[in-house]
Amino acid sequence: MESTLIKSDVIIIGAGLAGLTAAHELKKKDDSLNVMILEANSRVGGRLFSKEVLVGGQNVSIELGGQFLTSTQTELLDLLADLQLDTLELAGTPFKQLYFCSTHCSPLWRTGAFNATSGFKGWVRQFEWVYLLNRLKNYESAILIKHPYIKPKYVELRLDNCCGLAEYLDTISLHGFLRDFCYFASNRDMFEIVVLRIFGRSSTEISLLMFLIYSKSMGGVHELFGPTKKLAIAGGSAALLDRLAKTIGVDSIVTNQPVQCIVTDDEKVYVTSSTQQIYVCQRVICAIPPEHLPMVQFEPNLGPKMAKSVKSWSSGNMIKFVVVYSRPFWKDHRLSGTMACLQGKQIQKVCSGLPITQVFDASLSTNEDDPGILSGLLAGPAALQWGEINPETLKLSIIETLSEYFGHWAQNETHHIELHYWDQEIFSSSPICSQRLGCLEYAYTLRDPHQDKVFFAGAELSVQWMGQMAGAVLSGTRAAIQVLDDLRPQSLSTKDYKVLKSIHLSTEDRFPKHVQSSRNYGIYRWTLFLPMTCIAFGYGACFLRDKWCGIFIPMH
Ligand SMILES: Cc1cc2nc3c(=O)[nH]c(=O)nc-3n(C[C@H](O)[C@H](O)[C@H](O)COP(=O)(O)OP(=O)(O)OC[C@H]3O[C@@H](n4cnc5c(N)ncnc54)[C@H](O)[C@@H]3O)c2cc1C
Repeated sequence: MESTLIKSDVIIIGAGLAGLTAAHELKKKDDSLNVMILEANSRVGGRLFSKEVLVGGQNVSIELGGQFLTSTQTELLDLLADLQLDTLELAGTPFKQLYFCSTHCSPLWRTGAFNATSGFKGWVRQFEWVYLLNRLKNYESAILIKHPYIKPKYVELRLDNCCGLAEYLDTISLHGFLRDFCYFASNRDMFEIVVLRIFGRSSTEISLLMFLIYSKSMGGVHELFGPTKKLAIAGGSAALLDRLAKTIGVDSIVTNQPVQCIVTDDEKVYVTSSTQQIYVCQRVICAIPPEHLPMVQFEPNLGPKMAKSVKSWSSGNMIKFVVVYSRPFWKDHRLSGTMACLQGKQIQKVCSGLPITQVFDASLSTNEDDPGILSGLLAGPAALQWGEINPETLKLSIIETLSEYFGHWAQNETHHIELHYWDQEIFSSSPICSQRLGCLEYAYTLRDPHQDKVFFAGAELSVQWMGQMAGAVLSGTRAAIQVLDDLRPQSLSTKDYKVLKSIHLSTEDRFPKHVQSSRNYGIYRWTLFLPMTCIAFGYGACFLRDKWCGIFIPMH
């Protein structure tokens, strides 16, 4: 049976945040444009997913996907303001303890940040930590996010026995780098936890170049480890998705339409879904995670560089859990609710470690009588192993672990626990797609259009806030401006032309200066400078005493 063609001006594939933002931007700039969104899933939002649960007679909204933003993510904040949505500052806690548990570091209570280990060893370890961050910062300044394999002209960085910096950084894993340059196992563990949390993979699977591109897009490696004030969207991600869908027009979003084929000719683009429905339009924005692009057939084929890029994306393993209590009981015990863990006591014999990689306080209210929310992740090997186990057993093990470390209240008080297995989603990624070792050369060719008619968007393709909600917004906006430049150039503002121009500029020129942190440079300089100054003073004092003390000896 031949299906009828459905016509529109622009088709957006994927109703995640990037796709919805692109549609919103198109409609905002030119309402006469006929925009249609095809979504593979039965719901919109992709990696944004919230749920309402009933705890102690109260309806509580929980986030099982993306949740936090920062005050520096201006594009996302602008979009929220545009949709008349507010942000909430996360309640946080005055108690700063961090329970860090790994094979190399027996459970420790820390006050403040990671640097609170006392004694000479702690001082040396902290010195190594700052040295590592600064070494990575130097590498960061030597790479361009947009073209990682092109060395900026202004950088003079010599490496022995290797032909190019990018090739070198792309072929060694972050684990390899840490093995060579990091003596303290607890410092290595800190990196491991951050990498697991970001990529859902262990540091052996992430190239140093991939890590640096990510950290640079976030404003620098110091930002990844520094304390940041977190914000959340008032009403949760559901409110954002709801407002976006309303401004675009709910009827323009078609769910359960996994796109299988995109055919481009001189005039039009034909998009076919798995239901064999054919859509025809002038331009396409493909806003699906790059890992899923191989499932879409392109005619004509993607060029050799893009084809290489498409094949080399993959994502890690992640399970997110949210535990809701009627109150934040951890505060009664002066606990922050934060814990990071690599491995620990074996609770379930089938798995080698604790079922928690990280847990943090995600309560939205400072009122101690409002529900308390603990969010957490199982990432990488933990998600792989525990993903095989019955969800009810996993829930029990999570609560058991929380109770072991935070106190019995975690088990005894009324609670509700919800899990989401991101690595088992067919059309999503968990939580960010990354490139395999040595494959980054052509990764970002996807930022260019295919046949001048198919544009790619998605959090991974953003040059700033890569893999974040803010990155999804930026890439969706960029793709919409590119389409408008082709179809309705008169609707573009001077600011949009600046965006178009900046697509061809290096990202480094665009990154806001205030985001580039230099917080730790002070410590670094002083740890070197202070001992040297003391030695110089001591030496000077001895020299002066020897030379001039004679004048104080009474002459006979
Ligand atoms: C557990 C978790 C925690 C996170 N925490 C944060 C956080 O705190 N802060 C933050 O900023 N970010 C966070 N993120 C990341 C953030 O959620 C994502 O970066 C962002 O939502 C990605 O949006 P996107 O539109 O690029 O991709 P997606 O949301 O993945 O959207 C892609 C859409 O394309 C659809 N699709 C796929 N294939 C097809 C096809 N063939 N045809 C049609 N449609 C298709 C998918 O169903 C999906 O709806 C988190 C993510 C996860 C998973």
